[in-house]
Amino acid sequence: MKIVYSDKHAQHDPQAFVVRGTKQRSSEQPERATRLLAAATDAGHKVLPPRSYGEAPAATVHRPEYLDFLKVAAREWAKLPGASPEVTPNVHPARYPATYPTGMAGRAGWHQFDLACPIGPHTWDAALVATEIAATTTDLVLEGAREAYALCRPPGHHAYSDMAGGFCFLNNSAVAAQRLRSKHQRVAIVDVDVHHGNGTQGIFFERDDVLTVSIHADPNFYYPYFWGHAHESGAGKGQGFNLNLPLPLGSPDAPWLDAGDKALAKVREFAPTALVVALGLDASESDPLQGLKVTGAGFHAMAKKIASLGLPTVLVQEGGYLSDDLGHNLVHFLSGFEAGR
Ligand SMILES: [Zn+2]
Repeated sequence: MKIVYSDKHAQHDPQAFVVRGTKQRSSEQPERATRLLAAATDAGHKVLPPRSYGEAPAATVHRPEYLDFLKVAAREWAKLPGASPEVTPNVHPARYPATYPTGMAGRAGWHQFDLACPIGPHTWDAALVATEIAATTTDLVLEGAREAYALCRPPGHHAYSDMAGGFCFLNNSAVAAQRLRSKHQRVAIVDVDVHHGNGTQGIFFERDDVLTVSIHADPNFYYPYFWGHAHESGAGKGQGFNLNLPLPLGSPDAPWLDAGDKALAKVREFAPTALVVALGLDASESDPLQGLKVTGAGFHAMAKKIASLGLPTVLVQEGGYLSDDLGHNLVHFLSGFEAGR
């Protein structure tokens, strides 16, 4: 399988991650990508560099003021008295009508919805290259590849059109889906990351041309908490075009694969002509974030099921954190996908 990758992510190395009030080292480390790359290369997959598209792919799913914010945030934040090394706002316009402020502390609070998306001096460049990787991978599929894999970081599925969160800044899976729309009337996104793909859901919530389906740990007890519940099914013309399949924490392969069957039944009913897989590997039993307990065989079986749809498919890397199984799980997934064709 063709893989698109660039090492330009490496300087984006977020430090702060506040969990239940405790500050710890972010799980979203550069080594994730180098481990995934090594495993994929060892398994014989061919690696290509991304093409240069600049901000155009990101601009198809993100708002202009948000792109402007990400571009200047690290530099402007550093000018504030007593500013931390990374952009980490401590106040947000939660749930009530609010006004967009002009100063950086307020803009940061507006555009960053949690304490898991600190912005450092290299964040913008890395996030932008990740969208170029997603766009290049999509173009390989539009040009005739049955499938291709975007090995990108930072991940994207928690990023809304104008908000960062959960290690995500620009939504790579949404970029891929929107780009597929240039040739396909209906596109589906299946998100198998252990966390609900709330940003992706938010971007397409009122649309009937992109179906969003997510399988994840129950948000009553797991990040992102406020989104990913089963009753969230879309709005307006998008009503019925979003499906959430939450699972009890610690669920093993069998219920995860059953949810996969439900996801694929919904995709078949929608009858898309192209697919994006938001490929988080953090549902692994070995993942440090411990939401579900999926094995390597589980990843292989899920990939095989998804491939059996027979659709042109863009695989986009989402979460999946450092463990001895991270690279193996990717290889299990990619080989399962090829076996299911
Ligand atoms: Zn995740």
